[in-house]
Amino acid sequence: MSETDSIVTRSSTFSNDRKKHKRSATSPEIVKPIDRTNKSHTSYFFRKDTDNNEIAYCILCERKLASNRKPYSYSRKGGLTSNLAVHLRDKHGVTKNNYLEYLDVNNEPKENEAQVTNYRCSETRQQELLRLLITFIIKFVQPLYILQNNAFRDFVHGCEPGFQIPCKKTAKNLIHEAYIWSKDQLLNLLGSTVTSIHLTIDLWTARSKHDFIRVTATWLASDFTFYEVLLTCNHLEYPHTGEAISDELY
Ligand SMILES: [Zn+2]
Repeated sequence: MSETDSIVTRSSTFSNDRKKHKRSATSPEIVKPIDRTNKSHTSYFFRKDTDNNEIAYCILCERKLASNRKPYSYSRKGGLTSNLAVHLRDKHGVTKNNYLEYLDVNNEPKENEAQVTNYRCSETRQQELLRLLITFIIKFVQPLYILQNNAFRDFVHGCEPGFQIPCKKTAKNLIHEAYIWSKDQLLNLLGSTVTSIHLTIDLWTARSKHDFIRVTATWLASDFTFYEVLLTCNHLEYPHTGEAISDELY
């Protein structure tokens, strides 16, 4: 089974626990707040600092803190609440579409956070989904800003509300780790199977008018298994003289 096949097989099993998290927005126990309807949903879950109107604290996080610990402060400078919304979504699974489920009849965050914690993945599941996400980004050559795209995030959280989508920096580190891992695998494969090797160099201009040079290696192992791997694919500045190509390759 190829790596792709195993990824598809495993990913197809992760429907599961979604239904038990889901609640109808029309459930009778959920009372829609009648006031402040034009306010951000974050206002229900953050309290403003008593001295500084531009600082807020997450009520849900604060409840879990030991009494001697200071809560983490979030900036709401200029009334902007996007970072508060991101925190609620990523840390607690609360979004502007489902926040009513987290409020009691007084429009206060529910004391019982069992529902909130239900939205969290186990560490094993978090790591597995992280691996699938990074594989998706690498194999489909997706830009890292997809991680900030709201439609993409909604899709991911629709599939698994408890998954914490990594930031760009974390994703970059994971991709780098994957590169190091793959490189070691490739060196081992080359060392254990190659007797002679065929290199192919291709130079082409993409639709974006950027030029790329690619080197692929193909070989036949002693058991007649055919291998083909990409060794490098780099941007190559114009002009494409023999000297420039030589410099790029060596
Ligand atoms: Zn919080």
